[in-house]
Amino acid sequence: MIHYSLEDIDSSYACDEELGVSLYSDRTVFRVWAPLAEAVEVNLYESGDEGCPLFVKPMTKVGRGVWQLELDGNADGIFYTYTYSYNGERTEGVDPYARAAGINGKRGCVLELSRLNPRGWEESDFVSLSRPTDAVIAETHVRDFSKHPSSGIDSADRGLFRAFTVTGSLTPGGLPSCLGHIRRMGYTHVHLLPIADYGRLDETCPEASYNWGYDPENYNLPEGSYSSDPYDPRTRILELKELVMSLHKSGIGVIMDVVYNHTFKLDGSALSKAFPGYYYRYKDGKPSNGSGCGNEIASERAMVRKYIVDSLCFWAREYKIDGFRFDLMAVLDIDTMNEVSRRLREINPGVLLYGEGWTGGAIALDGKSSASKANAGRLDGIAFFNDGYRDALKGETFVDAAVGYVSGNHILRDRIVDGLLGREKWADSPSRIVNYCEAHDNLTLWDKLAVSAVSCHERDRKKMARLAMALVLLAQGIPLLQLGQEFLRSKPLEDGGFEHNSYASPDSVNSLKWDMLDENSEDAQYIAGLIGYRKRHRLLRLGSSEEVQTRSYVADPSAEGTIMLRLFDDSEELLVLVNPISRAKIFMLPDGEWEVNITDCCVSESPLAICCEGMFVPPISVMVLKRYRWKRSG
Ligand code: CA
Repeated sequence: MIHYSLEDIDSSYACDEELGVSLYSDRTVFRVWAPLAEAVEVNLYESGDEGCPLFVKPMTKVGRGVWQLELDGNADGIFYTYTYSYNGERTEGVDPYARAAGINGKRGCVLELSRLNPRGWEESDFVSLSRPTDAVIAETHVRDFSKHPSSGIDSADRGLFRAFTVTGSLTPGGLPSCLGHIRRMGYTHVHLLPIADYGRLDETCPEASYNWGYDPENYNLPEGSYSSDPYDPRTRILELKELVMSLHKSGIGVIMDVVYNHTFKLDGSALSKAFPGYYYRYKDGKPSNGSGCGNEIASERAMVRKYIVDSLCFWAREYKIDGFRFDLMAVLDIDTMNEVSRRLREINPGVLLYGEGWTGGAIALDGKSSASKANAGRLDGIAFFNDGYRDALKGETFVDAAVGYVSGNHILRDRIVDGLLGREKWADSPSRIVNYCEAHDNLTLWDKLAVSAVSCHERDRKKMARLAMALVLLAQGIPLLQLGQEFLRSKPLEDGGFEHNSYASPDSVNSLKWDMLDENSEDAQYIAGLIGYRKRHRLLRLGSSEEVQTRSYVADPSAEGTIMLRLFDDSEELLVLVNPISRAKIFMLPDGEWEVNITDCCVSESPLAICCEGMFVPPISVMVLKRYRWKRSG
């Protein structure tokens, strides 16, 4: 450990230099920030993991803590590392700014990334939305997406980035799977669990283990196990760009799950080697563990902030990533997140940004500075996961037996009304709220219902699942579903239980079972109908709290927890009727004729029935009725 004052470091050495490798036709320039290093050398290698360096070249200090080496010639394809000297000890590490690497990210690689664009890349552009609430997000994991044989993807492409470029794959029952399914559902964005290089999976034999990827190794290059050749640094870059291009071609945006709150390891990380101690927070001389993963990143320091901002801008520019989901965002500080938001909007004004408004433990940062849900009002254009609504819908996440509104806890009615209207005390607008009732963490919705609504018939649990998803898709905010929840995804264990935390579980637990889509195709079709309906009705996607307030009316509560919500604008009026109880319930309707658009099993823009005065709503279901306002005045 070297001793220094952090304040002095930032005031003496913080800089805005371009770091990493710059390639020119006649020269290659390496730059790394290591202000207190006694010496830094560049090691050049032929291979990503074997052999001794071809050359070792000393770098020179060029001011404000930056070391530089300028080599004659274009070194495209050469692998490299840096050797830093601290207190006379030499340590070799990967460039924190490495944008390409060989197997397992052991050595960086000098590559001209602009040469690694798939054909047609120039035409590939960000997906633009009028407002964040127009998005309907599907969360998935690259490997889960296609790993199961029922995905209909060729075995050579299963589990890889490439599976996202396959059109026309089918389930055993002949339904569109993978990309075809995403398109058919109407999702606007695919949110991918971490795709940057992570550490806990050996890329030389990916089949031997599995991981979600929340264990960052190299922040600025794709994970190798998703590439068809993890040894060739070009392949993963090209194949990820092909994934992005394929989704963009379908009008679907790509959201990257990013993990800037901690690194896989502290000792031995590329950041620690470049500047021991600087990138992490400490408490009483020990690494603080606000991530719950052994360390936490000190985002508030000038050059850590620059590192995070540079990294995100790189992904947005080079890979045309449409949005970012921040893991344990409350570990990071508000100023960094606002800088991230400002800089990313310069690249793409419509970038979607959201995060987890909590930490994984106590952080060594003043609570007032944390990018937490409690401080949401001080974050610019960044949304938060609405865990309160999630728990109200299906029951407390961390108590298996707890039931929610859809599974019998009707006293939560007012909480659900707040959720439907995007009325959260921490959010000043629906654009700040990500609504969901299932994500990769914890039990799937279907499994949660299995362990909490134990005595209920499967038929009723299906109604509960549909109702929970409907209440996400009809709520003001940004809806997010875990891919597969629309066909009742499950993560069963051999002992008859269900997996709560499948971060390192085998493919048998994690992979999307596309044959379940055949079994539950009516559920998926119903959810697709709701997504389509949401997209056609602006009243379900209002952009501000003021608008929600002036365009909505909630009827008085009932003893049984039912909800009658009216939404109206100049042209139409929607009536949302929610019946959470296990028998049909009559709702008295406001005057006039209403068209039935959504029932417990159908969604249709043309009237399924016309009704007035009263409407029977089936058990555990939602109905949506519509009338045109001009009919009333005309
Ligand atoms: Ca890796």
